[in-house]
Amino acid sequence: MNNYKYVYFFGDGKADGTAGMKNLLGGKGANLAEMSNIGLPVPPGFTITTEVCTYYYQHERTYPEELKPQVEEAIKNVEEILGKKFADSENTLLFSVRSGARISMPGMMETVLNVGLTSDTIPGLIKQTKNERFVYDSYRRLISMYSDVVMEKAMGIRPKEGQGVRHQLERLLENVKKKNGYKNDTDLTADDLKELTEQMKLKVEEVLGEEFPDNPHDQLWGGISAVFQSWNGKRAKSYRKIEGIPEEWGTAVNVQAMVFGNTGDRSATGVAFTRDPATGENQFYGEWLINAQGEDVVAGIRTPFALNNRAKQDFNKHLPSLEEKMPEVYQKLSDIRDKLERHYKDMQDLEFTIEDGKLWMLQTRVGKRNGIAALRMAVEMQREGLIPKEDAVLRVKPSQLDELLHPMVDPKLESSHTPIGKGLPAGPGGANGKIVFTADSAEELGTKGEKVILVRDETSPEDVHGMKPAQAILTSKGGMTSHAALVARGWGKCCVVGCGDLRIDMENKKATFGDKVLKEGDWITLNGTKGLVYEGELPLVAIDPEQNEHYKQMLNWADQLRRLKVRTNTDTPADTKKALEFGAEGIGLFRIEHMFYGENSEEPLFILRKMIMSNSEKERRAVLDELFPYMKSDIKSTLSVMDGYPVTVRLLDPPLHEFVPKQASGREKLARELRIDTDELKQRFENLHESNPMMGHRGVRLGVTYPEITETQVQAILEAAAELTQEGKTVYPEIMIPVLGHVNELRHQKNIVERVYQRVLEKYNLDKLDHLVGTMIEIPRACLTADQIAEVAEFFSFGTNDLTQMGFGFSRDDIGGFLVHYLEQGILPDDPFQTIDQEGLGLLIKMGVEKGRNTDPKLKIGICGEHGGDPESVKFCHRVRMDYVSCSPFRVPIARLAAAQAAVEEAKMN
Ligand code: ADP
Ligand code: MG
Ligand code: MG
Repeated sequence: MNNYKYVYFFGDGKADGTAGMKNLLGGKGANLAEMSNIGLPVPPGFTITTEVCTYYYQHERTYPEELKPQVEEAIKNVEEILGKKFADSENTLLFSVRSGARISMPGMMETVLNVGLTSDTIPGLIKQTKNERFVYDSYRRLISMYSDVVMEKAMGIRPKEGQGVRHQLERLLENVKKKNGYKNDTDLTADDLKELTEQMKLKVEEVLGEEFPDNPHDQLWGGISAVFQSWNGKRAKSYRKIEGIPEEWGTAVNVQAMVFGNTGDRSATGVAFTRDPATGENQFYGEWLINAQGEDVVAGIRTPFALNNRAKQDFNKHLPSLEEKMPEVYQKLSDIRDKLERHYKDMQDLEFTIEDGKLWMLQTRVGKRNGIAALRMAVEMQREGLIPKEDAVLRVKPSQLDELLHPMVDPKLESSHTPIGKGLPAGPGGANGKIVFTADSAEELGTKGEKVILVRDETSPEDVHGMKPAQAILTSKGGMTSHAALVARGWGKCCVVGCGDLRIDMENKKATFGDKVLKEGDWITLNGTKGLVYEGELPLVAIDPEQNEHYKQMLNWADQLRRLKVRTNTDTPADTKKALEFGAEGIGLFRIEHMFYGENSEEPLFILRKMIMSNSEKERRAVLDELFPYMKSDIKSTLSVMDGYPVTVRLLDPPLHEFVPKQASGREKLARELRIDTDELKQRFENLHESNPMMGHRGVRLGVTYPEITETQVQAILEAAAELTQEGKTVYPEIMIPVLGHVNELRHQKNIVERVYQRVLEKYNLDKLDHLVGTMIEIPRACLTADQIAEVAEFFSFGTNDLTQMGFGFSRDDIGGFLVHYLEQGILPDDPFQTIDQEGLGLLIKMGVEKGRNTDPKLKIGICGEHGGDPESVKFCHRVRMDYVSCSPFRVPIARLAAAQAAVEEAKMN
């Protein structure tokens, strides 16, 4: 390890690193290097690599021996460039010590500014700058940041809420302001600040039992260690868990010469976005503050000014923009904006500081944006010639399309309301409803169609029945991995968790937000995207994606680029029409049994029940004849809507006892119709009982034991198709046999189809009728023997819900009891029912595809489980070379985009 490089220099128009070195230098360090390389004004400094962080934790929190000399060498470099010296009493140089992980973890890691101010360097700096006020302002900032970050947090001290050293020091500052009647921090005079810093140092010693360090080198190394420590701080750890950032990545440390935005009225600091992150518009957007430092702008201590006149809002329209106040600096910053966008070819989020009229760049990174803005930027950047459409398609997360597909709180009204509570944004979109406090009342009112919001301290798996029918969920406790958050995110339901302002009084059915008291039945509105709670019923707006030209352009590109087809899972003509609007190219799953649920199901369900309770083939056939017209018309209406596209009809799948009436009255009616007594009916019903119905008499097994059931269904499908054909429509029915484990099951069923097919041709006097016979692949054995099955099947459709259930051995209906714990403890990275378990069950799927295509290279293969609408799973389906995915209608656009991304990502790999 001799001379192994642990320290990377940047500054004065060059750097050891580049933007591509994020893994080693962290995002901030890599971009500071890049900005130096392209000649932007970056204060010089150096980055200590993430490898040092790894070393530090592997070697009992010590450093490799090469580190110290390399740091000293780099400091010398900075000193030469600036003509100042660190720790010099005449002409001193100060540093910032900044954390920077591979990907940005906003607010999670620590930074200390003004490192190097001591009783020895202070007088020199005052003499040099002739600005005592500025020096003591910097010093009080150092004391408060350093004691908080280095002396308290990094030492593992966990003070009570509000008792941390930083809070106590802030109170001292408040006292000075109060005593003198000052409004802003900037009102403090040099003398005020000087005295304040003395008080602060005493306070630090009082609270932490240690003197504030008065040696620049101690401060520097203390800061460096604290940054490494902060990687294992509580906040950073829980953030990593939520975002799935691996522990072993580590953070880098950036040590950078300070530039000062707090030397007076010709100095300032600010943040900016190269385009408007809220709308995506190609307009420079940002905020700044005169005579300020570091995070003053985002910390909300003073009202930030708008960067340019265009960005002024009601609250700051009376304050000067940078454009007005320092036009030349603004012009320079605008030029840098252009340069950065051309260089990075993406919207950037910048930090800058102006010291006595000179502009310095302190950070750039790819800016976060909402879905609507992401669409607009991606499309416009393609049109501006900045990026090709392939890149534009990668710029929008498929889940961001949700913003156009879910209702949101009307932004115009929202901005004029003050939230009564704030929590974590756990589930997207907006919702309004009446407060209820128990899952039972949520279920009761919710299923009646009333709009309710379930308000709890926290939720548990026992509350799930009430969470589903609620419009949204609000909890006072819990974080982004709490039960409520996980469940809501899984459903795409609006949810706010950890709302600290909320107190619930279950006994008196009251919810208190600060001093606002609301009772059960009162209306509230949630913004789940931002984590806000409003009193009353704020209207929601749903954006019509068809009105958004960027959305349309994006999906148009997606359709040009993708290879996968996207179908939908629907069983009613209404849903099918909706799915067609969303761009579905066929139905991947039409469940025949759907006609026995929900609206208008009474008649057919009753007939089905008669069939289930029949005791002989003769009885059964008689009842099936009654059922036939319902089936046929149901299938026909959907086939007709899907004119020109394939429709996969799955034969009866669930175990029969699911359809048996649970209530006595229903049973009596059934007995009468069947002309048997209730004891006989009871006997027949008991015969249907199974101890493990999910693996019982269902799917193809029903068709084997009662061929007449298959016969009737196939007849209904083919007759519907024949009639539509004669009416001039183009239909492609695909008959799908569920729950198959052995090829012989399929042979058996295919014979039946063949027989019925001949009959239908004769009846309608046709030579042929396009149709396919295929199967669900949802039992592990079917994957293992897919080569045999492909000898008979004309298509495969992976039923990944059951495949996950049977492959993982996780009951789909009972997973609520343990999944949360699995996710919280990181035992599973994702819910396998949401996202395909690629490294495990994915292998079964891959094997099924390969074996199937070995037998029949043209075999049509798709997926119809829940996973068909999950972006990661869609990409997986692309990679294993399926022909299509199928998902619920509102996820069709998401699948189209994910499919295009999979194709682009694949092309980029080659
Ligand atoms: P974060 O990652 O939380 O944004 P930063 O490391 O960017 O933390 O630093 C916090 C604040 O301090 C930012 O506003 C940044 O611009 C400012 N800052 C960091 N280094 C310097 C420096 N060398 N000179 C002046 N300001 C700095
Ligand atoms: Mg920070
Ligand atoms: Mg920053």
